[in-house]
Amino acid sequence: MNEAVVQNKLSILIVDDVKDNLLALSSLLARSDVTIFQALSGNEALELLMEHEFCLAMVDVQMPEMSGFELAELMRGSNRTKNVPIIFVTATEKDRRFSFKGYESGAVDFLLKPLDTHAVKSKVSIFIELFRHKEDQEKLLAALKKTQAELEQEVRARDEFMSIASHELKTPLSTLKLQAQMMKRKIQKGDSDAFAPENVNKLVDQTEKQVVRLERLVDDMLDITRIRTGKLTLQMAETDLCEVTKDVMERLRPQMIAAGTPPTFECAEKIKGTWDRMRLEQVVTNLLTNAMKYGNKQPVSVKLHTSGGRATLSVQDHGIGIQKDAQAVIFDCFERAISAHEISGLGLGLFISQEIVKSHGGKLWVESEIAQGSTFFVELPLTD
Ligand code: ADP
Repeated sequence: MNEAVVQNKLSILIVDDVKDNLLALSSLLARSDVTIFQALSGNEALELLMEHEFCLAMVDVQMPEMSGFELAELMRGSNRTKNVPIIFVTATEKDRRFSFKGYESGAVDFLLKPLDTHAVKSKVSIFIELFRHKEDQEKLLAALKKTQAELEQEVRARDEFMSIASHELKTPLSTLKLQAQMMKRKIQKGDSDAFAPENVNKLVDQTEKQVVRLERLVDDMLDITRIRTGKLTLQMAETDLCEVTKDVMERLRPQMIAAGTPPTFECAEKIKGTWDRMRLEQVVTNLLTNAMKYGNKQPVSVKLHTSGGRATLSVQDHGIGIQKDAQAVIFDCFERAISAHEISGLGLGLFISQEIVKSHGGKLWVESEIAQGSTFFVELPLTD
């Protein structure tokens, strides 16, 4: 035992009908890591046993009203007290032959009167050590059980991840396969339509769409693995958040206009910080893509400002909105506010975005009203 470590105090119960014996035993057993409780009868002992946890009871065998053995029988009958080890203090050797059914071996011991100071101290020390050892083992066992449960949970989550990811990968792959088969059949039949420029263009467009979708899925899955293994590294450099946002908006503007969600932009000045430009582009792209997907063909407004050493970007749409109870979970892996919604994706975008923002020391959150729209906020610390 490391003396420098302050351990929990243990409690010992001593039971004897002679007050002087209790006092003598108390002073003999006194040590800094132990509290001693005294009982003058079996009944007093039972009361104390109901109130406190004891690591050991030292019980005089010969007591009026209730003998030490009778007390032991009663203790064995209650779940709370049945595991408290007992040292019987007796004047006669023959008491040792008393049988204690139901007690584990080592849970019962004897000391002969007159008590030998050294024998008492060393026996009690052994019981205390055993008790501490058992406590440590129980703690270790509890920690092992917790780790086992966490590992099992991790394996289940991986299985779930694999199954959802495979399913999502299969959809664009099946479409591509189907398009290839159709084309092959047309060519085999000598169908001249197959080579008509408008059909070839359509096919190339469709193929490109599926390939982009596959590429996004694979990128997201790689990011999830990086996040889970703590390998999402940032390439920090001086970056202007206003410029990053403007660039992403320029790239997405044609799609947003086509989706009926033309974006507006407000940023008074340059907002410079030490950030990972590519990763911030990824966050802004995700928020704008979502605003376009769930924005109900209403204009989307993007605003940036600084205050109190922080930069804030907001992306506001006037679309379908998000239920209050779904607002926290949409930032988890594979969570979608509306299950199986035709436009919802894999449910990884916001999780990855939040991890990116968090690893910059910032925050990502949403304020939303159902059927009125959502505003997503990104807050980043500014560096001077
Ligand atoms: P997904 O690829 O499904 O869009 P995200 O992680 O980006 O994945 O978003 C998770 C879910 O959050 C979406 O499926 C959708 O239900 C909800 N959501 C995200 N952005 C918006 C928004 N602007 N308006 C309404 N719902 C949104």
